[in-house]
Amino acid sequence: MLLVLGVIGGAVSLTSAQRAASNIYGFSARSAVSERSVERRFLALPSPDKAREAHQLLTAEPHVAGSPRDRVLAEWVRDRWRDYGLEQVEIVEHEVLLPYATDVTVDMPSRNWHASLKEDAVDGDPYSARDVGVAYHAYSASGDVEAPVVYANSGNPADYDWLAAHGVDIRGKIALVRYSMPYSYRGFKALTAEQRGAAGILIYSDPAEDGFKKGKTYPNGPWGPDSHIQRGGIVYDFRVPGDPLTPGWASVPGARRIAASEAISLPKIMSAPLSWRDARVLLESMGGAEAPSAWHGGLPITYRIGGGSTRVHMRVRMDDGVRPIWTVTARITGTAQPDDLVIVGNHRDAWVYGGVDPSSGTASLMELARSLGALASQGIRPKRTIVFANWDAEEFTLTSSTEWGEQHARELGEHAVAYLNVDSSASGPDFKVSAVPALNRLLSQASRDVLDVRAGDPQLVANRLGSGSDYTVFLNFLGVPIADMSFTGAYGVYHSIYDNHLWMKKFGDPGFERHVRMTRIWGVAALRLANADVVPLDYRATAARIREFVTETTDAAGLADKQALRPLVAAVDRFAHAADATGQQIDTLLASDSPNRTAALALDRVLMNTERAFLDQAGIPGRPWYRHLIYAPKPTYAAEVLPGVAEALERDDRAQLEQQVAALVAVLTRAAAVLAPR
Ligand SMILES: [Zn+2]
Repeated sequence: MLLVLGVIGGAVSLTSAQRAASNIYGFSARSAVSERSVERRFLALPSPDKAREAHQLLTAEPHVAGSPRDRVLAEWVRDRWRDYGLEQVEIVEHEVLLPYATDVTVDMPSRNWHASLKEDAVDGDPYSARDVGVAYHAYSASGDVEAPVVYANSGNPADYDWLAAHGVDIRGKIALVRYSMPYSYRGFKALTAEQRGAAGILIYSDPAEDGFKKGKTYPNGPWGPDSHIQRGGIVYDFRVPGDPLTPGWASVPGARRIAASEAISLPKIMSAPLSWRDARVLLESMGGAEAPSAWHGGLPITYRIGGGSTRVHMRVRMDDGVRPIWTVTARITGTAQPDDLVIVGNHRDAWVYGGVDPSSGTASLMELARSLGALASQGIRPKRTIVFANWDAEEFTLTSSTEWGEQHARELGEHAVAYLNVDSSASGPDFKVSAVPALNRLLSQASRDVLDVRAGDPQLVANRLGSGSDYTVFLNFLGVPIADMSFTGAYGVYHSIYDNHLWMKKFGDPGFERHVRMTRIWGVAALRLANADVVPLDYRATAARIREFVTETTDAAGLADKQALRPLVAAVDRFAHAADATGQQIDTLLASDSPNRTAALALDRVLMNTERAFLDQAGIPGRPWYRHLIYAPKPTYAAEVLPGVAEALERDDRAQLEQQVAALVAVLTRAAAVLAPR
């Protein structure tokens, strides 16, 4: 970096106004002036027209993971990155369990009715007129069953409890449930149905959630039309993500594989997605009692429980294929600390065309690579290395990011500064960012500077992290600080054929300005992580959040459990004390015009190792792959904080609670020791 700034000699001193205006966390005042100059040049580079061109190409054809088109796009990304001047550009292949459906049917034999499992062409959208094959749920079990159908609302445990209390036994029957807001991962619905003994599950998109009850439907509005179908994975990746047959190690050639019967992430239940138009036929033919009012969706019908004479025949055949998938990686090698890695990533594979998910993110990533590559070719290089990753099979089970993270665990453990994820970059105008608290300061400053978002807004960066995208391996398995960003809005065509280039041009981001805003905020965050005098990780924020998590957990606990939780208070105090002391040490160091380089390098190691210290090698009970003791996803993908402790409390298991409190005290104590000034 900073070659352009050679003009700032050692003798230049800054006025206090200049100092205040140029304040960037992790930078001395003088370095911040240089950084702002680099950023000004960077910010001028991303182009909405180029983002649109990339988006049009990426979404020209369906490109599900492992398909020929997915390979073509991997090569396109690789070739563009070479054109842009990135280094070590390569396609990394993993062979993973990636089943495609060969046959899915849902019928009502008594009425000679067959669910379409396909979407209609709509006016003016040639993308929607193509045959893209039958919709399915990845990692559904194969099977063939005819059974009565039962409406089970959202398919959560409480819904089945209600049914049982009203004399409806789900065992051996087919559950019909709806995708729900607040969002609950479809794999959790499948697991719940499996555990309750259902023979199969059908998940449909009710118009109350993403259709006409929300507003105008496509092509007249952004919401889902009557035949839209939400495809998706149902794998139990809240237990372990990545290739189900290589849990915890990489699917490199010759890797050991477990039997499918031993894989804890593979569902044993059949599952299929339905449009509301198909589900309506079932719902209208169902008898039984009227469903409780909270279960009524947006259709103008009487929602009934069923369970009697309406029988559905459901067949799913999966090919159980092991297929190659392709991660594209590249880097811009740092000038001063080339071993230290700032990683930016997005996935490429889509359920169909992937207009929002993920091609908006991929188009933003391409503009990021082009812009940073252009700076590097002008001699403006980062201090630390920036790594670019374009993942594959995210839609199946966060697959290629998980395999790559497992493959490079040692290097990433030693050298990853942070991972910045963007999945869908633009479905509307609202900027959303979630991150580990150590990145709050970086992200709120970058948002203020790039997006004009109020920096002081404590709600700007969400610190409750679940799962559902490629940051999971970095946070939960490797202990690398992560952030996840998007621009969101009215979006009812998720994982359907209508999530395409035309939808984006009409509704999501007509001018492709949001794509480019994402490139800018993403790039500035990456540049600051790469160029800072001291890596901008602020553990004072982490300490404050953990204290909040401990307090709310304790407040919600019973009297005896409160007692068991008490050791956490002192452990948080120790960590907070270390965070304060080191924070002051950093502030003092950066107050100097030329910060001591040896001290800065030592602080870098300390700050990178601190997030790592939250890992417990034993992991959370029952799911050892999830090693971070502050965060894990619930099976719904919702955030769970202090997961080991939270789950012991939920199970009301005192022995496990004491053991998990001890484990959490141990990681907090270790993190405090890592972080303490020396
Ligand atoms: Zn995605």
